[in-house]
Amino acid sequence: MQTKIPEQIINSPQGKKADAILRSCVHCGFCSATCPTYQISGNELDSPRGRIYLIKSALENNEISQGTVQYLDQCLTCRACETTCPSGVDYGQLIDIGRELTEPHRPWWQKFYREAIRLFLTTPTLFNIAGTIFKHSRITTPKIKIKTSHTKVILLSGCVQPSLAPNINHVTKNVLAKLGIEILETTQNECCGALSHHLSAQQAALKQIKHNIDSWYALLESGYDNIISTASGCGVMVKDYPTLFEQTNPYYQKAVIVSEKTRDIAEYLLTKNISTLHVKTNTISYHAPCSLQHGQKLPGVTEQLLSQLGYQLSPITDAHLCCGSAGTYSIFQPKISKQLRENKIKYLSVNEPDFIVTANIGCLMHLSKGTKIPVKHWIELLDMD
Ligand code: SF4
Ligand code: SF4
Repeated sequence: MQTKIPEQIINSPQGKKADAILRSCVHCGFCSATCPTYQISGNELDSPRGRIYLIKSALENNEISQGTVQYLDQCLTCRACETTCPSGVDYGQLIDIGRELTEPHRPWWQKFYREAIRLFLTTPTLFNIAGTIFKHSRITTPKIKIKTSHTKVILLSGCVQPSLAPNINHVTKNVLAKLGIEILETTQNECCGALSHHLSAQQAALKQIKHNIDSWYALLESGYDNIISTASGCGVMVKDYPTLFEQTNPYYQKAVIVSEKTRDIAEYLLTKNISTLHVKTNTISYHAPCSLQHGQKLPGVTEQLLSQLGYQLSPITDAHLCCGSAGTYSIFQPKISKQLRENKIKYLSVNEPDFIVTANIGCLMHLSKGTKIPVKHWIELLDMD
């Protein structure tokens, strides 16, 4: 795609990046086939290609209408279009740039509402109060003591997960302890920055992210081997840290190390001998979060691990499509979000499983609101006494 972005924009780091991404798009439209919002509305402006054109117009002619804000808002940032695109268009980074451009054009009341939600979700004291009311799972098994330890890992606590579903990290710690791995859990204050980043609060996100990089890099230097994430939405953010800095920025190299050392829990366990782990004989349906299959580019990784653990997984129709959770999307776009959840639940329920399992707290909470089938993180299947 040819571009005519004005000099003053193209000379900025974001402008240069956006120009390169736009030029890699050959406007073939293949991406529309796997875009959930385009499938629902059939409107080109609700497709990846349509949004790419909107961002191009914003950059080239400063054309930003309320429609532009709306169609960019309606994007789930699920990145299914990246998986489908034959030209490797880095849509995830482009939509972030587009949102930064359009943010000043948002009505004041939307800005106020979004900022209130952001502050609520990223302030542990406030969220913990709500978390006690809406708690999804509780810890029911005792903590296992580690016997021998040759390996040390940092476990990302997550900011909302400890309040809503503390059992996920509890079971993860037990599983890792059983494998002889020492764990250091980060504090809830060390939020990965995803919520602020996706709500265009870039300064707040960067402050958080730089703090994390300093703290986790120092731990990696002191001998910790990996950073483990049990929420794929946090994992993808941490793995994407290097994209937030120019290569000349002092944080860039440290961000690369932090990113390279980060593993989703399924990705990590696949490199270990898991023959000592036991599961109960439940029937399950697995929902693959977009942040894992499209964002982290790890399609099939959890499925492979679950098969090794002895589960028989049936293929799920439209497994590549988002469930509608998508961070704060379900709060700001409830109609589309609900429709996507209904579709997802329908396909996940076909075999009448005992449990629906997933790999991200956002998907877990969102799906559980739409079904009577219990929804868990898959690691909770390894709950042991
Ligand atoms: S993003 Fe990729 S798939 Fe979509 S129109 Fe551009 S080149 Fe084609
Ligand atoms: S990120 Fe998802 S919703 Fe957004 S354009 Fe791509 S496929 Fe569509």
